[in-house]
Amino acid sequence: MERMEFGRIKVIPGQNNGRFPFCNSLLIDDSVKAVIDPGAGLEPMRQLREGMDIDLVINTHFHFDHIAYNYLFDHSRIIINDREGECFRDRREILKRLGMTDYYGDAWTQGWLDRISRPDSVQSPYTPQNRHEWWLSTARLDGTYQWGEVMDFGATRMEVIGAPGHSAGFCCLYFPGEGIVYTGDIDLTSFGPWCFGADGDFDQFVKSAEIIANLDAGTYITGHEAGIVNRDDFRTALKQYFDIINKREARIMAALSEPVSLNDLCAMGLIYGKKFLVDEWVRAWDALTVKKHVERLSAKGIITCADGKYAQK
Ligand SMILES: [Zn+2]
Repeated sequence: MERMEFGRIKVIPGQNNGRFPFCNSLLIDDSVKAVIDPGAGLEPMRQLREGMDIDLVINTHFHFDHIAYNYLFDHSRIIINDREGECFRDRREILKRLGMTDYYGDAWTQGWLDRISRPDSVQSPYTPQNRHEWWLSTARLDGTYQWGEVMDFGATRMEVIGAPGHSAGFCCLYFPGEGIVYTGDIDLTSFGPWCFGADGDFDQFVKSAEIIANLDAGTYITGHEAGIVNRDDFRTALKQYFDIINKREARIMAALSEPVSLNDLCAMGLIYGKKFLVDEWVRAWDALTVKKHVERLSAKGIITCADGKYAQK
C-alpha cells in the first residue's frame, strides 16, 4: 500500500504489507499531532518521531502489533481505551487477557515478565511473544479514553466507536467530517477474525463489525494488509471474512466424525496448522479457540460429549 493522505489524516503503511506483527498506522497532522497505533515498523515510526513533534499516541487496544513502538514517542502523551489501561499498570493483565495465564498458569506468566524485561531474550519466528518492546512500550501510560468519546485535534474530530470481540476494549476510530474509519483489527485478512484471547468473542466481533460497516463513511482503513477500501468493498469482503469462522467450525466438525477427546482435538492444529504449534502462544490460542468452537457447537446441539470424548451428533 502506498502512503496515502486524506487531508490531515495520513496513512503510514505497515512494513511487510502491514502483516502481523506490523500494522498500518495513522497520523493526524493537525494542531494536535497524533499517531494512532504506532506499529508500522521501527523505521517508519523512527522517521515520524524525528520528523515532527507528536503530541499524542493513541492505542486502539493493547495487542503488541498496535503498541510496539510506543516507546519511541518519549515526549508524547500515550493513551489507550479505559478498559485496557490495566495492561500497562500491571503487565500480567496482558497474559490474562491473551488467554496465556489460563493455559500455562501464574508461574509461566511471571517467567514471561522476566523474558520481556531483557533485550536479549530468545525470539519465536511465529509470534512476538518475547519481544523487549512489550516491556518498553507498556512502561508508561499517561491517560485513557472512553468508548463514545469525541476527540478534537483542531480541524479534525474523531469519535471512538467501541467494537468489542477482538479484545474486550477494542475500538474503531471514526472521522465523521472526512467519512473515514480506522477499523484496526477488523482487518479483512485471509486468516480471518482473531478473537482467540480470553477476552475475545466471535459473536461480539461480528456484531461490532456490522456496526462499523454501517457508519456513514466512504473510506475504511484496516489495521493490516487490505489497507484502504471503500464501504461497498468493505461490506463484501466482510462476508468472506466472517465465513472463515464457519470454515474453522467445519474443520472441527470433520475432525469429530468419530469420538475425540478435547486434548486430542487441540493437538491437531485445526486453527493455525500443526507446524505452528511449536510456538507456545500459538499452541495456547489454537487450543483456546478450538475449545470456544466446541462450546458453540455443543450449545447449538450439533455435537455431543460422552466419556470425555466429543463427536458429531
Ligand atoms: Zn489486535
